[in-house]
Amino acid sequence: VDTTTLEIIRAEDEHLAHNYHPLPVVISRGEGVWVTDVEGKRYLDLLSAYSALNFGHGHPALLAVAREQLERLTLTSRAYHNDKLGTFAAALAKLAGKDMVLPMNTGAEAVETGIKVARAWGYRVKGIPTDAARVIVAGGNFHGRTITIVGFSDDPAARDAFGPYSGGFAQVPFGDAAAIEAAIDENTAAVLLEPIQGEAGVIVPPEGYLREVREICDRHNVLLIADEIQSGLGRVGETFACDREQVVPDIYLLGKALGGGILPLSAVVANADVLGVIRSGEHGSTFGGNPLAAAIGERVVEMLSTGEFQERARALGEHLASRLADLVGHGVTAVRVAGLWAGIDIDPRVGTGREVAERLLARGVLVKDTHGQTIRIAPPLVIRATEIDWAVEQLRFVLAA
Ligand code: PLP
Repeated sequence: VDTTTLEIIRAEDEHLAHNYHPLPVVISRGEGVWVTDVEGKRYLDLLSAYSALNFGHGHPALLAVAREQLERLTLTSRAYHNDKLGTFAAALAKLAGKDMVLPMNTGAEAVETGIKVARAWGYRVKGIPTDAARVIVAGGNFHGRTITIVGFSDDPAARDAFGPYSGGFAQVPFGDAAAIEAAIDENTAAVLLEPIQGEAGVIVPPEGYLREVREICDRHNVLLIADEIQSGLGRVGETFACDREQVVPDIYLLGKALGGGILPLSAVVANADVLGVIRSGEHGSTFGGNPLAAAIGERVVEMLSTGEFQERARALGEHLASRLADLVGHGVTAVRVAGLWAGIDIDPRVGTGREVAERLLARGVLVKDTHGQTIRIAPPLVIRATEIDWAVEQLRFVLAA
């Protein structure tokens, strides 16, 4: 590792909380699928900020709308109306086939908001007794880092030091629809799921699972909340991962790529009979729905409305899947691919996920390990087939080394 890089990392270590353990690379520029570090070395970014950079670094259309809006108006708060939020909300609602949007900033805020909406719906529409509402979640979930959310995580690192937690959640195994039905009682307001679990290692549930969960929710008058913060907006070759099973949840939670990789923008999207339960003064955010984010978000929605990025993710995802399948048995024990999104389990004899990520870094490819033996890739959807081939060759090389 070069001296400038080392110096910057040392200075960070002293003054930054150690809540992350980044790879030893200091990035200073990004363009499309490529980033450049402070030493001038280039890397293929196969993580794209956990899927927040679906359109790549510095997409010209997104930069243009951001620059234009930056000069005009950036923030009003929701104390006033602004001339960007309404058109963004209309466009996003249309993309999702829903009526209404509640804009927030981060993914965790969208999840918290979705839970509030579901509980309010439970009390005001379903008639659940005060403070008795329950939400069913899945084992292995990752929905963010707030106290409520980590309280229903089963990852000790996410959860253990941060109690006491809020109640009202029940956890069942992911991929098991019957377990959801068994856990539902008359006070159940919602089932909250990632349609494909990202942090857990790109875990794709059995075919038909989401459809079954949809039917169970309908049968018991329970809302289905799909956390599409990582899986949504083109990543899996469809606008939403739920589309893979033609399932329409009652509530979409969106984030990450919605802000175009430029700023945080998240949203809860639902029909008026659900999202309409929230009354004035019950929820909000100073920055939520700011005109800069709304202008960028509207352009993101416009880019997704042609289906071009979804189609790219589908076609290139098949290419990626076939290339990765060749590695199974050669340093890789399993791969799971959905569109341009893959979890790759590394054979422990080759090394840990972190070690493989470090070896790939040395060869100009950026990935991130998760849960010890897995590396996850989620390249920008603008990646080319030849770049995928090159990256897979680097992976083959480091697995053989
Ligand atoms: N939900 C899912 C499925 C996620 O993958 C993430 C982040 O990785 C979140 C929620 C939390 O988003 P944020 O980090 O923006 O709070």
